[in-house]
Amino acid sequence: MRLVVDLNRCQGYAQCAFLAPDVFTMHGEEALMYDPGADEARREQVMRAVAACPVQAILVDRTDAPIALERAQAHDR
Ligand code: SF4
Repeated sequence: MRLVVDLNRCQGYAQCAFLAPDVFTMHGEEALMYDPGADEARREQVMRAVAACPVQAILVDRTDAPIALERAQAHDR
């Protein structure tokens, strides 16, 4: 699966790191690190984190298209 965290939105509440610790980890008080290509087996954990994030900063993309290609297509619109 592919996921992106909008770090401009993220406020470092750490709910995601609590609910899906294999995918999201906090470094220091506010720096979030995450696995953008998290294993499909982690989907349930990740979706719980998505639901729990107070600022809806976690975006899960269900397509297999490369992220760079999607960005390019978004510019074409
Ligand atoms: S739960 Fe949301 S706001 Fe909190 S650290 Fe995770 S992505 Fe950021």
